[in-house]
Amino acid sequence: MPELPEVENIALGLREAVVGRRVERVWVGTPLIVRGPDRRRWRESMKGLAGRRVVRVTRRAKRLILAIEGRLALVVQLGMTGKFLLSDPEEGLAAPKPRHTRLILTFRDGTELLFVDMRRFGRVWCLRDLDPDAPDAAMEAAGLTHLGPEPLELRPKAFADILRTARPIKSLLLDQSRIAGLGNIYVDESLWAAGIHPARAGSSLTASEAATLLCQIKRVLRRAIRAGGTTFSDFRNVYGDMGRFRSRLKVYGRRGEPCPRCGTSVQRLVVAGRGTHICPRCQVK
Ligand SMILES: [Zn+2]
Repeated sequence: MPELPEVENIALGLREAVVGRRVERVWVGTPLIVRGPDRRRWRESMKGLAGRRVVRVTRRAKRLILAIEGRLALVVQLGMTGKFLLSDPEEGLAAPKPRHTRLILTFRDGTELLFVDMRRFGRVWCLRDLDPDAPDAAMEAAGLTHLGPEPLELRPKAFADILRTARPIKSLLLDQSRIAGLGNIYVDESLWAAGIHPARAGSSLTASEAATLLCQIKRVLRRAIRAGGTTFSDFRNVYGDMGRFRSRLKVYGRRGEPCPRCGTSVQRLVVAGRGTHICPRCQVK
């Protein structure tokens, strides 16, 4: 499932590709994925996008926001397998569409942006009155779940407040209402980098451990963003490229391989109901 670095890379690609372009029409092949206050009238709300320009593309946690003239917006949650692809400009409209194409935005100049989603867990909301600088209000008004702060903008004091609970640190970091954007891969990598066992209670971390963990979360995310994200199977950016961070993962998906720091075999255990990778020597409980 795409996490913050993957979604950030999709946002970067979309920014280059569609900002400034004017929507000609929207085709929805799978109404199931369209949500929002206008769920029952999604045809009208999608039609309302025609003739308007995409003014900005932003990311909020794992959601993409295409802000469109007139304070309209498409908010997209990619789910397990959702991705955006740009049609090949050489072939244009005549090109055959990939299987599992759920939605197509066609722009005035002929560019097409396809939302392709094999598993159909992706969701698209067509929202009104969304401020791209403060999108949470419009998203929550439409029934989208509340999101905690962005990890890259989080200050040590706010992070310390989040940790003040007996819940396991791994389950806290995965809880999007506490801190938003991390998933299984980057939580495991950050905890390994900080030398913290994932089952420890949040409140058991010392001030210096908490500071180290926050630094490592930011460092891991920034490096993953620069590497284009992590691809295990489905993730692609809008140009169809895979992320290059997989080869740089230290513990995630590396059960039985030596820990890059101490050589001990990486173990897989279950914490917070999720498969979890640790070095049992670097991360003691
Ligand atoms: Zn180790």
